[in-house]
Amino acid sequence: MTIMTSANLPRTPNQAMLPVTPTDIEQAAARIAGRLEPTPLAHSGTLSERTHQSVYLKLETRQPIGAFKLRGAMNAILSLDDAERKRGLVTASTGNHGRAVAYAARELGLSATICMSSRVPANKIEAIRALGAKIRIVGVSQDDAQEEVERLVRSLGLVSIPPFDHVDVVAGQGTIGLEIVKDLPDLATVLVPLSGGGLVGGIAVAVKAAKSQVQVIAISMERGAAMYAAIAAGKPVGVREEETLADSLGGGIGLTNTITFPLCRALLDDIVLLTEAEIAAGVRHMAREEYEVVEGAGAVGVAAILAGKIKLSGPTVIIVSGGNIDPDTHRQIVEGTAA
Ligand SMILES: *Cc1c(COP(=O)(O)O)cnc(C)c1O
Repeated sequence: MTIMTSANLPRTPNQAMLPVTPTDIEQAAARIAGRLEPTPLAHSGTLSERTHQSVYLKLETRQPIGAFKLRGAMNAILSLDDAERKRGLVTASTGNHGRAVAYAARELGLSATICMSSRVPANKIEAIRALGAKIRIVGVSQDDAQEEVERLVRSLGLVSIPPFDHVDVVAGQGTIGLEIVKDLPDLATVLVPLSGGGLVGGIAVAVKAAKSQVQVIAISMERGAAMYAAIAAGKPVGVREEETLADSLGGGIGLTNTITFPLCRALLDDIVLLTEAEIAAGVRHMAREEYEVVEGAGAVGVAAILAGKIKLSGPTVIIVSGGNIDPDTHRQIVEGTAA
């Protein structure tokens, strides 16, 4: 059994005490307006038929970098003062966050250095280089890359833009939630990919502020689900990183996590874990039935429905978080020769 029921998820009684507020998200939306377009909410005929509910796809694949991370990075960088911006930005990333910081830095005329581990796929590294960022490949894990960031902050005074555990980053991702409740006021359930928890944490704050009964269900892969392990343990714990089709969901949540762990612990209604074959089926469905190229991490919401691991009631939005997948890997999955 891989589903953690809501009864098992401990809650903090007072949501007003949470580290990211609905006001933070409203302010983020105002800050990024005019720089980032809202993304489409597309009705899915095939998934609606299958589930007998109205199912919609929130297509973050349509962001200029092909993933939602631009929202958080843009909001965090726009929140810096002039002196901080001039020092230059640095971050560690499994790909999409690095791409987001590089893109936002270029848009704003700032310098960015991106640290990443040698496990990051080549197509993601090249995409970041093409955006004009400086690249540093360090170690074999997200934690190794993060240590290099902290070294550059100490030695060169660069300003760190973390991938998820930061109020302005989470608030930026939360702007997705504002767009959803505006487009679909009778929203009942939202399915959100989960890694560090910035995406689902921000969305949960926004949608539950608008409508407290909305169910927020997070989805990770079985291989190395860091937030799931942390919530089960009651505190952040180390997890072994493993290869997964959902490579954007890899990495730890940080042993000193202060923002996304409390948010996820308080606000998630459930966490669902998926096998590699289930994730592949989600990518395949998105390509064959929805005509969307989606990476493993971006397909987990669809995959959870196809796997029968979620029972829907009411209008549902699936966050399709990103589309940055190696073309050969994508072709093998769609042809049914991988996972
Ligand atoms: C980063 C990322 C996620 C997970 O976001 P978190 O804020 O780390 O939980 C999901 N999908 C894609 C495509 C990503 O790049």
